[in-house]
Amino acid sequence: MYDSQSSQRLLRQASWLSFWIGVVMLAIKSAAWYLTQSSAILSDAAESVVHVAAVAFVVYSLRLSQKPPDEDHPYGHAKISFFSAGFEGGLISIAGVFIFYQAVHQWTSGTEPQRLGMGSVLTAFALLINGWLGWHLLRLGKKGGSLILEANGNHVLTDAWTSIGVLVGLGLTWATGWMGFDPICAMLVALNILWSGVRLMWQSASGLMDRADPAVQVAIIARLDAATEKHGVTWHQMRHRHLGDGHWVDFHLVFDDETTVRDAHEIATDFEREVRDEMGPATIVTTHLEPIEDHARIHGHPPGEMPLVDPGEGHHPD
Ligand SMILES: [Zn+2]
Ligand SMILES: [Zn+2]
Repeated sequence: MYDSQSSQRLLRQASWLSFWIGVVMLAIKSAAWYLTQSSAILSDAAESVVHVAAVAFVVYSLRLSQKPPDEDHPYGHAKISFFSAGFEGGLISIAGVFIFYQAVHQWTSGTEPQRLGMGSVLTAFALLINGWLGWHLLRLGKKGGSLILEANGNHVLTDAWTSIGVLVGLGLTWATGWMGFDPICAMLVALNILWSGVRLMWQSASGLMDRADPAVQVAIIARLDAATEKHGVTWHQMRHRHLGDGHWVDFHLVFDDETTVRDAHEIATDFEREVRDEMGPATIVTTHLEPIEDHARIHGHPPGEMPLVDPGEGHHPD
């Protein structure tokens, strides 16, 4: 199931798998660089060093994010996901800058790559493994609602693209004999790495700043409107934030003055269930219940003119 113990264990195992494959990749890419002296392969190997550090943090963060809420952290620990994605993005970006610098340096110093065949075989092997691993992590992360694994999957896929860039560079060098292809491909690879690093950091900052994801917003509003159809009760002032695993959603519900607290509570619970069904069980939904008659007086504004996300007027129960 979605958030059961065994699914959490599956995610943790995947993070360890990613870590150990990262270590093996570092060894393979270092060997390939030693054999070929190719600057594209060196860039790949350099990325592997920060890669292992980043995935070590992924393993730690995932473990922490699954810790249940406690007295110190009553909202749970899943927000570490955004630190993890940001840390990973930061390290990748540093690697990208280093690789670019290295490529320029090797080109101007005129180092020529050797034993291209052996280097290509090792790089192709790394490509296959990373391609599979990235796909696997992305799929598990999306299914298990873990931003940490999803970010790591994107990172590993970037590394697979890196290997493709390296292979193209080696192939062109081999076919044409022109040594410039190797550093040029290394630079392209560096730019791609930098881009994915910046994207991860952006994702991290958006999460920490509780940026409202438009796709999430549309999905929640659709469910709330469906519940309004069902119960004839309007909603307004909906807010939502990403917790790292699930979401936190809160909104107001407006009832007839005659509705009993018991009925209002039952309907509110159904609204909450609708949203949780949409967003997954890790999602927390809170509602604020109010009577239609006094609503404007108490809040100082009519129900149709709410300051925050509002479906508009016309849903008033008659
Ligand atoms: Zn990497
Ligand atoms: Zn209100």
